[in-house]
Amino acid sequence: MIRAIPMNIKKFLILTASFFISVAALFFFVRATRDTVMVSSTRFLMGTVVEIKSPAASVEERKRAQDAIEKAFKEISRVEGVFSTFKIDSEISRINRETVNGPVKTTDEVLGLVERSIEFNKKTEGAFDITVKPLVELWRHARASQRLPTDVELKSALGRIGSKHISINRADKTIEFTIYGMAIDLGGVAKGYATSQAVRVLKECGIQNAIVNSGGDMYCLGMRSPASQWRVGIQHPRNKNKIFAELKLKDMAIDTSGDYEKFFTLEGKRYSHIIDPRTGYPIGDDTVSSTIIAKDPAVADMMATSMCVLGLKGLKIVNGMDGIDAIIIKNNNGVLEMLASAGIERKYDIVKK
Ligand code: AMP
Ligand code: MG
Repeated sequence: MIRAIPMNIKKFLILTASFFISVAALFFFVRATRDTVMVSSTRFLMGTVVEIKSPAASVEERKRAQDAIEKAFKEISRVEGVFSTFKIDSEISRINRETVNGPVKTTDEVLGLVERSIEFNKKTEGAFDITVKPLVELWRHARASQRLPTDVELKSALGRIGSKHISINRADKTIEFTIYGMAIDLGGVAKGYATSQAVRVLKECGIQNAIVNSGGDMYCLGMRSPASQWRVGIQHPRNKNKIFAELKLKDMAIDTSGDYEKFFTLEGKRYSHIIDPRTGYPIGDDTVSSTIIAKDPAVADMMATSMCVLGLKGLKIVNGMDGIDAIIIKNNNGVLEMLASAGIERKYDIVKK
């Protein structure tokens, strides 16, 4: 039976309940304003999971971090819309279609990243090459059809490779390919560039501490907490549930490329998504993974891809460059061996797991 509660008891109960709710709300507010929480959000962008985290010590900081993270995701999505070759309406896809008719007018942003990629092609003695697209397509087709490319197909694709055949006119803001059938693919730098743009947006929103992780292309902005830097783990290349080594970073980018990330198997052999533009073949399993630490995430991205092609020679190139370091994991007849550039031990505290 349901009984009506007399008015005075009802009033008492309401007052008591309101009191406890107010105390709870106040307690929550004090906790929320005093304790630092990690504001974190993930999005599926650029064919990978992008995660952005930022510590916030108050309700206002939390709101600011949430808004900034939203804006950073929007920027990554914009960059993807410009540089993706998987999107037929991207600026790069348009360039690849229209260059058959001569020079194509484009933006300063595209010209800038293409120029930086060409510069990197020279630095890496041809290992990094955005004109690798005909080979990328050939090997994607091999994967889909489960048939290795023929010598004729390989020769035809190799004949359309070479950054020196990209011609840029800065005054007219145009790009042109001097060999028929060439195409560009900025997949080896776009994620790093998008990460750097996301960091720029976060900083513009007043965020001083954050981590942007674009599927392995990372930037550690500021600190994780006033007492500790961001801790980053290098994935074990043969066991994705294991960390190979760990290090602490502040205001640095870190990026890992490896043969384990994206590959396919054909006739019992592994074929990586990274291609040696000089031979036309996907990289072998000599360099299992390469991790680059640099100020600029775009540089880290380009160098990580290049190192997989170059192996030990890449370490030599990195040692001759300023502000960039590398850790490579080599496959020594089945035994994984870690090698590092000269600056690694001096500048970073690496804990091998
Ligand atoms: P990443 O995962 O950063 O190592 O980049 C790999 C992607 O870059 C591939 O999926 C290709 O789109 C492209 N790529 C493959 N090989 C090369 C290369 N040698 N130089 C530049 N880009 C490459
Ligand atoms: Mg890369």
